[in-house]
Amino acid sequence: MHAFSYEAPTTVDQAVKLLAAAGDNARVFCGGTDLLIQMRNGVRKPLVLVDVKGIAEMRGISYDAKSGLRLGAAVPCIEIHESEVMHKHYPGLTEGAHLIGSLQIQSRASVGGNLCNSSPAADTSPSLLALSAIARIAGPSGTREVAVEKFFTGPGANVLKPGELVVEILIPAPAAHSSDRYIRMIPRNEMDIAIVGAGVSVTLDGDKVKAARIALAAVAPTPLLAPKAAESLIGKKLDETTAARAGELASEASSPIDDMRGTAEYRRHIVGVLTRRAVSIAAERARKT
Ligand SMILES: Cc1cc2nc3c(=O)[nH]c(=O)nc-3n(C[C@H](O)[C@H](O)[C@H](O)COP(=O)(O)OP(=O)(O)OC[C@H]3O[C@@H](n4cnc5c(N)ncnc54)[C@H](O)[C@@H]3O)c2cc1C
Repeated sequence: MHAFSYEAPTTVDQAVKLLAAAGDNARVFCGGTDLLIQMRNGVRKPLVLVDVKGIAEMRGISYDAKSGLRLGAAVPCIEIHESEVMHKHYPGLTEGAHLIGSLQIQSRASVGGNLCNSSPAADTSPSLLALSAIARIAGPSGTREVAVEKFFTGPGANVLKPGELVVEILIPAPAAHSSDRYIRMIPRNEMDIAIVGAGVSVTLDGDKVKAARIALAAVAPTPLLAPKAAESLIGKKLDETTAARAGELASEASSPIDDMRGTAEYRRHIVGVLTRRAVSIAAERARKT
C-alpha cells in the first residue's frame, strides 16, 4: 500500500480543519472496512487519513420522542444492533446494520461509512431513505443538512465536497402505529453483497395505510425511493393484493443491470417479492406499536 499520514482528531472542528488543509488528498477514515480495501486495490490513494472514531460527537445514539434519533455517523454497526432504542423504534435500519459483513466487520463498520461510500447496494441506505433520514454535514463553511434522498449522485458518489464530513444522521421519531423493515437477497448465505435490498416504512391508521415509503438497493446506479409503489398503498387496507401491487410498482421503478450475480430480469422479479414481504412485515410490526 502507498504511504499516507494518519490523523486522529477528537473534535469535528479539528477534523474539518485537517480535511480542508489536505483537500482532495484527504479521506475520512471511519471503520476502514471499505476504505482500506479500496486503498489496497489502488482504487483510492489518499495521502492523509482523518480517523473520526475518536470524535465523541460522532459516536452517540440518542433518541427523543419529539425530535427523533441522532445517530453518530461513526457509531459501529454492532452498537446499533445492541441498542434497545434502535430495535424498538427503527427495527428495519437495525436489521440492515446487522447484515453488514460479519460481527467482526460490524464492530468497525459504521452507518456513516456505509452512506458515504455510497454503494448502490449498501444495506443501510434503503432504510435511511424509507425513514426520511437527514445527513448533518460539517465543513469549512459551517454545517448543512441534506436529506438522504438527495445525498447520492451516482455509484460511489455523493454531495460531499472536499473538507466535508457527515457528523450524524437525523431521523424523525416514528409516528404512532409506524414501523419499518429491511430485507435483502444475496446469492450466498452470508458475507455477500445484496442483489436486491428493500427497505420499507409504514404508518397505519386503523387497518388502512396512512403513510409509506419504499426504497430499493442494488437495482439502480444509486439507492432509490419508489414513490409510486408507496403511494399505491395509501388509504388502502394492507392485504396480499395491495402488497403485491406495491411490489409490481417497485419492480417498475427499478433499473437493474445484468452481472455475474444476477440478471436484470431476475433482479426485477426479486424487487417485487422483497417489497411485498417487507411491506407486509412493516405493517405487522406497525400494528403492534
Ligand atoms: C468482508 C466485508 C463484508 C461486507 N459486507 C457488507 C454488507 O453485507 N453490506 C454492506 O452494505 N456493506 C458491506 N461491506 C462494506 C462496508 O463494511 C460497509 O460499507 C461499511 O458500513 C463501511 O463503513 P466504515 O465505517 O468501515 O467506512 P470506511 O471504510 O471508513 O469509509 C467508507 C467511505 O466513506 C467515507 N466516510 C466514512 N465515514 C465518513 C463520514 N462520517 N463523513 C464523510 N465520509 C465518510 C470514507 O472516506 C470512505 O470513502 C463489507 C465489507 C467487507 C470488508
